[in-house]
Amino acid sequence: MKFSLFAAGLCLSFTLHAQSDKPFAIAVHGGAGYAGNLSEAKQASYKAGIQKALDKGYEILSKGGTSVDAVQAAVMLLEDDSLFNAGKGSVFTHAGKNEMDAAIMDGSNLKAGSVAGITIVKNPITAARVVMDKTMHVMMIGKGAEALAGENNCEIVKPSYFFTQHSWDALKNALKREAEQRENNKKKSSLLQPDNYDEKYGTVGAVALDKSGNLAAATSTGGMSNKKPGRVGDAPLIGIGTYASDVCAISCTGWGEYYIRLVMAKSVSDRIEFKGMSINDAANEMILQKLPALGGDGGMIAIDKQGNITMPFNTGSMFRGFKKSSGDTEVKIYKD
Ligand code: ASP
Repeated sequence: MKFSLFAAGLCLSFTLHAQSDKPFAIAVHGGAGYAGNLSEAKQASYKAGIQKALDKGYEILSKGGTSVDAVQAAVMLLEDDSLFNAGKGSVFTHAGKNEMDAAIMDGSNLKAGSVAGITIVKNPITAARVVMDKTMHVMMIGKGAEALAGENNCEIVKPSYFFTQHSWDALKNALKREAEQRENNKKKSSLLQPDNYDEKYGTVGAVALDKSGNLAAATSTGGMSNKKPGRVGDAPLIGIGTYASDVCAISCTGWGEYYIRLVMAKSVSDRIEFKGMSINDAANEMILQKLPALGGDGGMIAIDKQGNITMPFNTGSMFRGFKKSSGDTEVKIYKD
């Protein structure tokens, strides 16, 4: 009896020790774009938002929490921060409404949940989590997704909660430019052609590796300013803007239409799994070569099973950061 208690104790301490020695890490982004003229104070605010999300996710991971809980908590904080284009800071559609998309994926079992075109759930990522945890479905849209979220205790708010002057001004600018373009007969395509930072990107996302070696990813966005009502971007599409498996976890930001056409996240994963590429090389090939070659722009954050993190972007900036159990950490906006 004594012996078996001793053996069980040894075994438990070995398991705990083994788990606490396992590397864990989180990375988050607050969107890629062209943050050219940000004041020092503005830069500090964006960085503080990224840091807060990193710290929250890291705290969960360090206590042995799951990567799914860590990415959800990090994204919720970024959704509540009006600086970012997700949740509270979401951009407006052409019709002056906020329509949000979000997705979450658990790499340990390939379970995923996503929502698109929702208008009244305070934290869209919580609705995505409900789809993943509480239904047989992967993706839900509009009213059905909102009803499900409400029934499952997600906080419901009035659409006016999502109003920010910043996003409203961005829409007004886009509409003005569109009218000017029409007048000059310069409009060449019906695709959105955002050309300054205010009107583009700002999506938020997180990827994480937990102490049990499991990966997860989450992404949340208001989409693109002046988008047509009903437009859905890459963020809620599993394997495109959001993906997690036992190979890697990825969250994207950028001009969604191009990400969809490139099947972005899964293309990175496949390069790692089937071509033996490093996560860095795989992500770089897609973001720095394939994406601009098609005419798109943006970035991504990605993490692999070993905790290697890469955060490439082909825009002028991407709000981003990571924090690893090794002590390695950074928060950045521009290129090095
Ligand atoms: N990828 C998002 C979309 O197209 C936009 C962004 O990243 O800010 O909806």
